Amino acid sequence: MRYISTRGDMPPKAFSEVLLNGLASDGGLAMPEMYPKISPAELEAWRGLNYSDLAFEILSNFADDIPAADLRGIIEHTYTHEVFRSEEIAPLKTLEPGLHILGLSNGPTLAFKDIAMQLLGNLFECVLEKNGVELNILGATSGDTGSSAEYAMRGKRRIRVFMLSPQGKMTDFQTAQMFSLQDLNIFNIAIRGVFDDCQDIVKTVSNDSQFKQKYHIGTVNSINWARIAAQIVYYFKSYFDATHSNNEQVSFSVPSGNFGNICAGHVAFMMGLPIRRLILATNENDVLNEFFLTGCYRPRTAAEILHTSSPSMDISKPSNFERFVFDLTGRDAAKVRKLWQEVDNGRAFDISGTPLWEKIRRSHITSGTSNHEARMTTIRKIYEKYGVLVDTHTADGLKVGIEYREKDIPLICLETALPAKFSESIVEAIGSKPDRPTGYENLENLPQRYVVMNADADAIKTFIAEHV
Ligand SMILES: *Cc1c(COP(=O)(O)O)cnc(C)c1O
Repeated sequence: MRYISTRGDMPPKAFSEVLLNGLASDGGLAMPEMYPKISPAELEAWRGLNYSDLAFEILSNFADDIPAADLRGIIEHTYTHEVFRSEEIAPLKTLEPGLHILGLSNGPTLAFKDIAMQLLGNLFECVLEKNGVELNILGATSGDTGSSAEYAMRGKRRIRVFMLSPQGKMTDFQTAQMFSLQDLNIFNIAIRGVFDDCQDIVKTVSNDSQFKQKYHIGTVNSINWARIAAQIVYYFKSYFDATHSNNEQVSFSVPSGNFGNICAGHVAFMMGLPIRRLILATNENDVLNEFFLTGCYRPRTAAEILHTSSPSMDISKPSNFERFVFDLTGRDAAKVRKLWQEVDNGRAFDISGTPLWEKIRRSHITSGTSNHEARMTTIRKIYEKYGVLVDTHTADGLKVGIEYREKDIPLICLETALPAKFSESIVEAIGSKPDRPTGYENLENLPQRYVVMNADADAIKTFIAEHV
């Protein structure tokens, strides 16, 4: 399988090459040259496989330059009871017949990002070892992504993580989760500034190609194709769990921010999984919902972002959305390049009234939006009716999913974090604190390891140079 760019101007690459790269050289995103089509016989054979075996069947299509035995080993070493603290990886919880929650948040940082990130860490280790190179991951985080990356990379050979976060702006739980890591390859850098300052530093350093090359600087952001690939697996897994035969269809509801999670669902659909609808849920930052209603895509500026009680969905410019549009244009890279020329220049594009819009409007994606009040009501209602406590992001998904639920079509709502991470909102919704999973009770009291620095890209470069 070779990988091409959504903007059409990258020589085809192998999986392990796109694994270590961020954006494609032409500013686009890496995409498999074509999607593997799963035959009815294969789909039948996959029903009943355990998570690791299913992951191997799916991922070996995409990661075909990693020897099969290595890939199998990596997968088996990733999806364990030890890492994901549950009997099953991605257990399906049934609220009532035809309504399910897919448990994706049992990994070390209590959010679904661990499912892909843990695999990424092990894939990195394997490929770096083989190529005899090192990787210094530089990232900016407002909470979830940074901790997920650190827990996936801690203690790994040939990898260091330099993670910038805005000093004092994360929740105590998030701060403690990251800063309590004592691994010598993890560097937590609290920046005197806000999240955008952190992100600007990462951009400045990444644009210094000499520095980038000399110090092997890389990223783990959600445009990484391997993260999307890893997320395809649980769409298949939960489809099998929610149905009796492959003649049935299901719908998924997906709390969305950067369009990564739902993009994996789109790929599963393209591979032939019988999906009726992918229901996209946004919070008050409704760039995507606005597009799916009107055909106008207007990314917001950082200043326009609203800070909400589902903070991991507070996204101004959902980067993976470009992958979906690429497919819906019939993979017309020239068209994508033209549309994203507008986006890259801070403008909107409006495709309403065009054949492309008709195609997207009739596609498998349906969208809706949620807000703080709806989240609180949903958390309360789901708790009262089913005795199940969900976090604020999952609540957004449930709210919109239930709105579009159809008779006789099972609905699977993706759980993207555990309520324990968003204690304050849970107290507001139900009047009491969520339980913490075992092992996390004492998190905020553990010793913390971090440095505080000014928002100064040169100082960060010096720090990196001194620690590699
Ligand atoms: C990252 C994240 C999301 C959004 O997922 P995307 O793949 O960016 O659309 C939703 N909920 C939680 C808890 C997250 O951490």
